[in-house]
This record gives sequence, structure tokens and C-alpha cells, in this order.
Amino acid sequence: MDFIPIIPLNESEGETGDGTDIPTTIPILPLRNTVLFPGVVLPITVGRDKSIKAVNDTYKADKLIGVVAQKDSNVEDPTINDIESIGTVARIVKQIKMPDGGTTVIIQGRSRFRILSIIEEQPYFKAKIEIILDEEAPKDEDFAAYVSNIKDMAADIIQLSPNIPSEAAIILRNIENPAFLIHFISSNLNADLKEKQDLLETDHIRERADKLMKMLQRELQFAELKNKVTNKTKVELDKQQREYFLQQQMKSIKEELGGDVNEREVKEMQKKADAKKWPVTAKELFQKGIEKLERMHPSTPDYSVVYNHLDLMLDLPWEEYTEDKYDLRKAKKILDRDHYGMEKIKERILEYLAVLKLKGDMKSPILCFVGPPGIGKTSLGRSIASAIGRKYVRQSLGGLHDESEIRGHRKTYIGAMPGRILQSIRKVKSSNPVMILDEIDKVGSDFRGDPSSALLEVLDPEQNHTFYDNYLELEYDLSKVLFIATANSVQGIQPALRDRLEIIDLSGYAVEEKIEIARQHLIPKQKEAHGLKNTNFTINDKVIEKIIQEYTRESGVRELDRLIAAVMRNQAKELTLKEKIKPSLTIHDIERILGRSKYNNEIYKNANMAGVAVGLAWTYVGGDILFIETSLSDGKGELRLTGNLGNVMKESASTALSYLQSNAKKYGIDSKLFDKKNIHIHVPEGAVPKDGPSAGVTMLASLASAFTDRKIKPFVALSGEITLRGQVLPVGGIKEKVLAAKRAGLKEIILCAFNEKDVVEIDPDFIRGLKFNYVKTMNQALEQALIH
Ligand code: ADP
Repeated sequence: MDFIPIIPLNESEGETGDGTDIPTTIPILPLRNTVLFPGVVLPITVGRDKSIKAVNDTYKADKLIGVVAQKDSNVEDPTINDIESIGTVARIVKQIKMPDGGTTVIIQGRSRFRILSIIEEQPYFKAKIEIILDEEAPKDEDFAAYVSNIKDMAADIIQLSPNIPSEAAIILRNIENPAFLIHFISSNLNADLKEKQDLLETDHIRERADKLMKMLQRELQFAELKNKVTNKTKVELDKQQREYFLQQQMKSIKEELGGDVNEREVKEMQKKADAKKWPVTAKELFQKGIEKLERMHPSTPDYSVVYNHLDLMLDLPWEEYTEDKYDLRKAKKILDRDHYGMEKIKERILEYLAVLKLKGDMKSPILCFVGPPGIGKTSLGRSIASAIGRKYVRQSLGGLHDESEIRGHRKTYIGAMPGRILQSIRKVKSSNPVMILDEIDKVGSDFRGDPSSALLEVLDPEQNHTFYDNYLELEYDLSKVLFIATANSVQGIQPALRDRLEIIDLSGYAVEEKIEIARQHLIPKQKEAHGLKNTNFTINDKVIEKIIQEYTRESGVRELDRLIAAVMRNQAKELTLKEKIKPSLTIHDIERILGRSKYNNEIYKNANMAGVAVGLAWTYVGGDILFIETSLSDGKGELRLTGNLGNVMKESASTALSYLQSNAKKYGIDSKLFDKKNIHIHVPEGAVPKDGPSAGVTMLASLASAFTDRKIKPFVALSGEITLRGQVLPVGGIKEKVLAAKRAGLKEIILCAFNEKDVVEIDPDFIRGLKFNYVKTMNQALEQALIH
């Protein structure tokens, strides 16, 4: 139903009276597809030459023309038989000439007419006509109801038809003349020509209204049905094609915004993914991710989240193994090549490798090298890797607090990353590397979580084939990884972790060993590192010993390594400046390069005064010596302890004091002194925290020296726990302590008799010149320590 939104210029004009102003002979204009009704305004395009002429002539004259419908709209040049005999006289309101020669006229229907006879056929039809007057509209209620019904139905149809502008309803509502209303609706009705013509020919207005109503009813039903069908198909379209449609739109928006940057990336990723040996779950996860990525614009923050995740999946090695070479003879050679000494440890490593070879899985306990820094724990791990032909990766666990550092953060966190284990695997690009877990004793647990439980899972062969990383969101098989842990002290390792580890103790090196290490390993290594491989110069053992003795105080060789590097840098400079270097370095050269010696054993002699005793300590960095100083001043017998001492050490001081009080007589101490003097014990260096029971006997010696005013023998150190009953108990870390004493240039060590077995284990060459005094009681210790 096509309403043409042209409002009748004047409703009643079409109905003008009796039509007496209309001539009885008028030109006839046959219309192809249209029936004109009185009062209705229509634009008509006139194309046929005959019709153009008729319109032109009429427009110049009285503008009145008889409009009739053509019976068959296909007929090009209608004869008298092809046109209807009843039509509507129209007034040409306006003529608009078109550029193509055609004409558009706006006509308004006036009165119906009947053709009586055709009087001219050329150049166009002219006919003798008779006006058919319209019946007056009845004024009864019945008819009024009819009319309002017609109005309502037409309004409904307008509402249901999306093509009709809603303004049409307003026009409709404003038509008051019922006859015109019927004409107007009839004209716009979506009916065929025959029906419209029939309406036009119907004389009685009631009858016409009735016919129109029936047609409207049919039309309304049709519109409703149509509406229902379109709605239904619309819903189906929604369901099936909405996503596709949106995706297409998204694609074009993306292209508008930034071209197809990610398309290339997506393609590359897909290509890489095809080569991966993924489990089904990984494959699915990747597919999901890549589909997401395809739909995203690269500049959105989410894009990089998805991209990084997929990138990790692609970067990680999946079942990419290196082949193991378990040739033990070769492995031994490599271990010997890289490390001097450590015979027992190398032996143990070879046993371990032999078991791995025979068993073929990694389910044996994990090796854990324990010892002070710089004694080659990490580099042993590297040697093991190269001995069996695996890749090597080191993961420092020091200062780890958070479980998610092992297991990763969930992707949704800003800046989320995979856990350190997977980061290492990604770096090393092998699914079965040797992974060194460095400083496993420094893993802390606090409110941020306990990483050791996650580590436990990593190290447990029953669980680690399905290690779940929160960032990766997948399980990763760690069961083929050879883990090796290192630690500075066994005490620091969480008990649960320690359970899974096989502890291998590496103690510090003696000076003699260090000289060998320097000669065989460090010097050649640093020479090469400084581009001096092909130059010839020597550093003799005396010079190396001086560096070790006077410039370092460590259990390992790290500082030594650094100093040798410093020497090599200097040599490199000399070589480039003077183009020659001295064939051998002297002690004098070393002093020039490294500056004045840092450590001097003279301090033990000079510091020797009553109240000062030398003890031996075991620390994370190896053995060390410590002084204990006691001074007495007038007061009320208060005991003050300074130097950052731990509880156990403070208690040792009290124990020593109590022992002295109760045995005052034996040592010739005036017992009143304990009430009259304040006692201050200080242990330098004050900033370093110290603890442990092993300084007990040293405290005792220091206190006894102060109270008796007898000095302690020079170059003597003491180590041992004490009891109130006067016994000296054995202590740990003897090798480290003894070597530290030797390094420091001490001459005599007083130890508990039970520690003799530990001393015997040390290579006698390393401790040549050191005298050991084994005691059982505190009395014996004081007898040995104090000068008579
Ligand atoms: P750690 O892990 O115990 O702290 P590193 O493994 O880092 O110590 O060793 C420090 C340096 O000392 C390395 O360059 C290492 O090669 C060297 N080193 C340590 N012990 C030996 C040894 N026995 N023989 C040869 N070089 C050694």
C-alpha cells in the first residue's frame, strides 16, 4: 500500500458540485497503472507522444482532462477498446518538463465521468462525456461507524507496514469528508487495477464503503501475516547469523583502524603451532586463544595479554629432549677438567649418574650441594650438565617469598608472568635440562605465601609430570628435568624440602688447594677472558699465596677469582700500552696492582691484652675468626653484652660468668669483684649478628683473663660449648673453622676432645704448623689458654 504523501489541496474541490463547469468534450488521457479518484492528487509521468501532446494542449487551455485507466497496462498504443469507459476528470495542477523530453504533471481528480463517444482519435483521444455525480454521504450513525471503521483499519495497516511513513496516519485522521476519505483510501489501496476500477465505478457510497472495507480487511490480514513472518525470520537471522555478521563488521572496523597487522602474526603463530607436540588440552587452549587474538585489535591491552600467553606456549619446548650421554669415563674427565680436588664429591656425582643411567628415570633424590659461596657448587652443576650432554640452566631462588614466583600469576593480573621454573625452561629450550636451583636455603615463607610447597611439587617425581603453572593454565611435564640444588647451610632449608634432597657437603678450601685452583683453573680462565691466551707470563705460587693470604679471607675462591681478573686487566693494559709484559709477576707487582694488603696477621699479636680472646666462628660464607673482649669497670656487678649477639651466645656469657663466680677461688679471683665491678663483653664487628654456642669457651677465657688480669697466649683460638658443670662440649663446622684459623695465621687451637675426629679428616698438608690442644673441661681450657 503506497500512500503518496500529498495532501489534497482542497478536499472539497474534487467534489465540486454538479460539474457544470466541465465541458462535455474533453481530451482523454489513458493511464497505465493508475486509477484516479475524485479529490486525490497524483503525480503522473507522461511518456507517450500522444499523451504529452494532450497534456500540453490542455495545460495551455482550461487544464481539464479526462483520465481513464487502461484495461491492460501492457498495451503501448491503446485504442478505444483498450480503455475503461468510466474515469475521472482531472485538473492539471502543475506541469513539470523533464530534461529527457518527458513530462510530469500533478493532477487532481474532480468528478467521475463516463465516455459517451470518441469524437477524435488523432492526435489524441477526444471524447464526449457525461459527468457522474457522487451521491451525498449519508448522515446516519451507521455510516459514520462505517467510516470510522475504515479509518481505523487503514491506520492499523499503516502501522504494520514499515514502508509507509507514519505521517500518513496523521493525514488520514484529518480527513473529514467521508466521500473523499473513501476515494483517498481507495486510491492508495494496495489492490489491483480491476478492483480499483470497480470501486470507482460503484455509484452508491454505502456499497463503495462496504467494498472498500472488505478490501481493507483482506489487506490488514495480509499485513499482519507479513509482519509475523518477517519477525520470525528476523529472530532466526539473529540466532544463526548474528555472530557471523558481527565478526564481519568487526573485521572491517579493524581494517579501518589499523589494517591487518595481527593477521600476519596470527598466521605465523599458527604455523609454529602446527609443529608443536602438544597434548590435546594445549592444542585446544591455543586454538581458543588464537581465535580470540584474531578478533582483537593490536593496540588494545588485552591483545598483548593473549599474545604473550600464546607466545609462551609456542616458546616453551614441548617434549623436545636432548639425548643423554652416560659415558661415565668421559663424564669423569669433564668433572676433572672443570674442578680441582673434590675427589669424594666427584665420586658421588659419578655414582649418581650411574644410577640414572641404569634406572632410566629421574626418581632418585635430588642432589643438593651445601657449602660456603664460591666453592664451585653452581659450576659443579654446569659440569654435570656438560658431562651428560644436557642443556644447563640456573635458577636463583634467593629471596623468593611468593608461591606465585614458582607457579606463576594468573593471566588476569596486570604484569602477570609465568613462574620461574617455566621461565627457565623457556630460556633453555629443552624439556630435559639440568636445572640448578640455587640457594634453596634462602627460600622464605611469610604472609605472601610459602613457595616451598610449590617447590616440593616441582621436586617430587610423583607429581612433577603434571606441574601446573597458573599463567600457562596448563600442566607441564617436569619429570625429565635433572634438578640440582645448592645451599649455604642445611639449617636454612625447609624441613619438607630437605627430605627430598641428598645433602652433599662441600667445605672450604685450604690455601694449598686454592693455589692449585688458581694455577690450574682460574688463571688460565681469566687469561683467556682478557685476551691474553697467547701471551707468556707466569705468576708463581708464592705470589698466588700472597694474594690468597693477604687480599682474601674466604672459604671459596670467588674473591680470588676477581683479584686474578684484576691482575689480568692490568696485564692487558700493560700489553697494549707498552706492547710487552714482564715474563713473571712479583710480589711487588701485586702490591702495585691490588694496593696494600688488606689482612694482616699482626693484629692478633698487637691486640693481645688481658680480657681479649680469639674464637672461631662458622658462618654462611665459611669459617671466620672472632674476638671477644671483656672489660671491667667500677659498678654493681652488672653484665652488659654488645656486638649484636643472639640469645644462645648471651646465655653462654652468663654460663661462663656463673662458672667463674663459683670457681673464683681456684683462679685466685677476689669474689667481691663480682659485686663491685660492671662487666662489659663486646664482640666486634658490632654490625654483624652472631649466635651459637661454640663461642662459650672463648667467652670464658675472655672473662677469666679480665678477672685474673692474665693475658691469653698469642695466636691461640678457642672453640667449644660450655656447661655449668665445667665441661667443654664439641661443636660443628670444624674444617671451616680450622681453615679459617690457618688463613688468619693463628698457631694453636683449643678444642673439645670429641672434635679430634673432625680434625683428623682434614688433609694434614693444609693445616701444617697448626697445633691442636684437646680439652675436656673448662679448667683444662683455661690452663691451656692463659699465660701463667
Ligand atoms: P658457588 O656456586 O659455590 O657459590 P661457583 O660455582 O659460582 O660457586 O664458583 C665460583 C668460581 O670458582 C667459579 O668460577 C668456579 O669455576 C670456581 N671454582 C670453585 N671451585 C673450584 C674448583 N674446585 N676447581 C676449579 N674452579 C673452581
